[in-house]
Amino acid sequence: MSPRRRRPHTWRPERFMVVVAHPDDADFGPAATAARWIDEGSTGWLVCCTSGDAGGDDPDLDPLELAATREAEQRQAAAVVGYAGVSFLHQPDGALANDLPLRELLVREIRTFRPDAVLATDPEVVFYRGGGVNHADHRAAGLAATDAVYPAARNPMAFPHLARAGLAPHVVRRLYLFWPNSPNAWIDVTTTLERKVAALRAHVSQIRQPDRLEERIRRWAAEEGRVIGVPAAEAFRVVVIEEDDEEGPTGELPEDDPAADGPGERSGSRSELRSR
Ligand SMILES: [Zn+2]
Repeated sequence: MSPRRRRPHTWRPERFMVVVAHPDDADFGPAATAARWIDEGSTGWLVCCTSGDAGGDDPDLDPLELAATREAEQRQAAAVVGYAGVSFLHQPDGALANDLPLRELLVREIRTFRPDAVLATDPEVVFYRGGGVNHADHRAAGLAATDAVYPAARNPMAFPHLARAGLAPHVVRRLYLFWPNSPNAWIDVTTTLERKVAALRAHVSQIRQPDRLEERIRRWAAEEGRVIGVPAAEAFRVVVIEEDDEEGPTGELPEDDPAADGPGERSGSRSELRSR
């Protein structure tokens, strides 16, 4: 029995913010969607909670030097995708905690940039459906982004000194959670997959076999694309926080079990692309 084909997800935020744990997460994640939205007129901002200072195999490597390298790589990749800017919050790589100081930093970012949608790693995924364990930093970053979006960013009495200093509360309308086990939205990225591949190649310190990586990225995009009948797609779990006038509460999201006929088992696990 062939799976029922879904419609592509077409809602586009005017302003969006991607919140990740490490430099390169955004490029393994929703880079092609970000590039497409930017091409169509959106403005995007990238926030990296850490600078990836533990992302190496040499215990004698200077972590600050590695952090500087990885920030430079991420800025180069972000320019390929087209983000308006990148913020680094300089939290410790490998020890990211969804604590109040991180939440305040993220609320500052959200209230400053004022995005309609925030994209973050799905914090509920501990084990990927296709194999592999989700990095603790990814889970912490996803949860921290969620908690900053709702309710802290919109609540003037959360971190009240921020509002008093002029950072007015801001309502984020949607969360787009990437690397989900139960996606409910697929975005056609056929026109921008090349930008994702090019952005990933900027992370020179992390990628030992760029050709194999590129082959995997293309294969995964093709697998997600088959769900909506296009050559390449990225999958998300979309959480609507604020209903849209044009789309209603769930927009194009399917009414039935979103996981029932999703892409299923992946032919390569995320752990192959260990992102530290
Ligand atoms: Zn990572």
